[in-house]
Order: sequence, then C-alpha cells, then structure tokens
Amino acid sequence: MMMDAMKNLYIDTGRLVAELHELAAFSSCPEPTPAVTRVVYSDEDRAARQWFDGLFRDAGLSVRVDPIGNTFARWCPDGCDADAPAVGSGSHIDAIPHAGMYDGTVGVLGALEAVRALQRAGHRAKRPIDVVLFTSEEPTRFGLGCTGSRAMAGQLPADRLALLTDDAGDSLDAVRRRAGYDGDLAGVRLSDDAYAAFVELHIEQGPKLEEEGLDLGRVFAIAAPSTINFVVTGQGGHAGAVLMPDRHDALCAAAEMIHAIEQLCRSSPSPDCVATVGTMDIHPHAVNSIPSRVAFSLDLRDIDGVNRDGVCEAIVGENQRIAARRHVQVEHSVLNADPPADCDGPIVEALAEAADAGGYTHRGMVSRAYHDSLFMASRFPTAMLFIPCRGGVSHRPDEFAEPRHLEAGVATLARTLATLSGS
Ligand SMILES: [Zn+2]
Repeated sequence: MMMDAMKNLYIDTGRLVAELHELAAFSSCPEPTPAVTRVVYSDEDRAARQWFDGLFRDAGLSVRVDPIGNTFARWCPDGCDADAPAVGSGSHIDAIPHAGMYDGTVGVLGALEAVRALQRAGHRAKRPIDVVLFTSEEPTRFGLGCTGSRAMAGQLPADRLALLTDDAGDSLDAVRRRAGYDGDLAGVRLSDDAYAAFVELHIEQGPKLEEEGLDLGRVFAIAAPSTINFVVTGQGGHAGAVLMPDRHDALCAAAEMIHAIEQLCRSSPSPDCVATVGTMDIHPHAVNSIPSRVAFSLDLRDIDGVNRDGVCEAIVGENQRIAARRHVQVEHSVLNADPPADCDGPIVEALAEAADAGGYTHRGMVSRAYHDSLFMASRFPTAMLFIPCRGGVSHRPDEFAEPRHLEAGVATLARTLATLSGS
C-alpha cells in the first residue's frame, strides 16, 4: 500500500530551495547572504520562527511550542491515531556567527517538504508525523550545544537549564521570557511515549559523500564530544628581567600540554578519536610580559565512549605531570561528556530501502559532528540521513548543497517517514 502511494511522490525542490534562501535572509550578519548569523532568541531568530509558523499552518499542521521554543508541527490526517507515539523529523535553525544557509535548516524545511510531499501523494499516516524545530543547537549564546534536545531528552534538568547564562550575564530563563516563551521549564522533557521514531536530515559537514560521488549517507553512529576547560597558572614577570631558568611560564606549559593532547589522541587505538584545542586566553596578554595564566579548551570526540573517556583521563594525567615538572599549576573542569549514540537498526534499514526505492546511491557512515539526534537517540529510536555538501564545508558562508541532493534527501526522508508512520 505504501509503495502505491509513494509512486506519486513528488518533491518540490524549487520551492524548498526558495524557502532556504528566504530563511537565510533572517540574519544579523553584516555581510549579505549566503553569510548567515542567527543567534537563538535574537530578533532574527524570532522573526524566522514567526515565518515558520506561517509555513506550518499553510501545510495544515498543528503547532505546539514548548517553554523554551522547541516547536512541534504535527500532521495527523484522517485515520491517524492522535494518541499513538509520533514519528518525528527535524533539526535546528540557529546559525553561528558568519555561517552558511544549509546547516540545520535543511533538516527543518526538508522535513516540512517531506510532509507536504506525503500529503500530495495521499499517504495514510497511522500515527502523527511531527516536524521538529529544536531550540539552540549551537552553543553560541549559552555555551552548551543542543540545549533544546538535551532538555527534551531529560538530560538537562530545569534548574540547570534556567541558569545557563549568555555573555551579557542574562540567564536563559530571563532571555526566553523576553523572547516570549514562558511556562514551567520542567515541561520541556518529553514523555517516554512521545516518539516511536525520529529521523534527522542534515548536510554531511564532511567531504566523504562528495569524494565518493554518493547521494546519501545513512548514519549508524553519532560521535559525542567531551568539552574540558584547562587553566594553567604560572608566574608572570617582566619579559626582560626574568632569566629563563627562573621562569614558570604558563603559556610554555600550555603549549607542551597541547602537544601532548595531540600525541595522546593520535596514538589512541580508535581511528574516530579526535581532539581539538580551539580557544585560548592568555593573561595578561602583553608582548613584554611573561604569561602568568592561560586558559584553553579541549573538545574530544569519539564514537567509542570508553576509548574517549580513557584518552581524556590520560590527557588530564599527562597535563598534571607537565605542570609538576614546570612548577606551574593546572586545573581542569569538565563542561560536558555526553555518551556517543548508536542509531536504531530498523530505521537505518528503512532509510536504505527508501534510498533504493528512489534510485539513490548511499552508504553507512558515522556522524562526526554531533546533533540534536544524539540526545533524541538517548530516549527514542533515532537515525540520521546525510546529504553531500560541497567540499565538506560547513559553518562558513560558502556552505552549499546541490538541489539534486536536497531532492534525494527529502524524497528518501519522505519514504522513510511513510514507512515509519504507516504501521
Ligand atoms: Zn547542524
């Protein structure tokens, strides 16, 4: 029955591309599109959500918004059991400063177009299908990625969620209220039977699919980051007056630690283990002053959580040895250490069948970036579908996905949602 209806499946790729461009215009980036900046709860973010509300209602979806702005646009046609656990698909629309127009947005507008395509094809959904827009996937404003999905999954208690603060010192609770969202934050957590299945469509943000000339990637595992902050404290002093044997330079110690991090990660048995030191603050940051304090971040990821945590422990131990030898102090704090996720086998299989039905080429792969799906996977059967992006580039204005790949992704998503909602 599903196959019959899906014979008529038509994806309006032109409309989808036009909507991606319209969405990109909700931006505070001083440069013109395709450069996009859209920070959660900013005027641009709120205007974009307003625009989405119109699109959802035009498609006949009923919209629920939770106390932090996570949005659920539901299609429950005649014959659909409104009380059954739903099938969900969605992603995020916030964009880091000076980013592109495809990261996340493809997963929300693509899910909407998939639902519209199912409506046109006359699909008889037996359970509701939700298009989900997650709040604050990017850590830009509150320093923590996937805020919305973490809270939905019950991994971010209401009191901690309320107290996340932005650079202006405003709490998430205050900022969301100013943006027009209220209600008890404890209500963000989803019930155990909210979703029977969840699928996120996303650009790959890596070069593999393009390199191999494939249309689609079926994600079977999502790597998870651990974020650790290190603070090295040494002794400052005049750059001319203190001789080398007498120095306890915090930056030189930090440099040795960063080198050790690279070595420990490279020698890890897991090929998926990656370590990045991406930020550093040097105090007092003057050309003629010996650095007395250095803070740096570590982002450590793997699909093997045990290996990742082992590498992390080795790094902490090695940094302490380096500090002791150089007579400086090092302290660390773990910001987050989320477990990696395995995707749901039957959903990944449904993606493969749907891709085959459309005549698209595909392969299984690991998501090295993490996504809202990582947190959805902790509660509900979840998988992801990747489409290629040019050069593997993401988080940059030149991020680009070809219309034919958008079409492949949305058609495959639609067929998968049909399978998952049809029984
Ligand atoms: Zn994303």
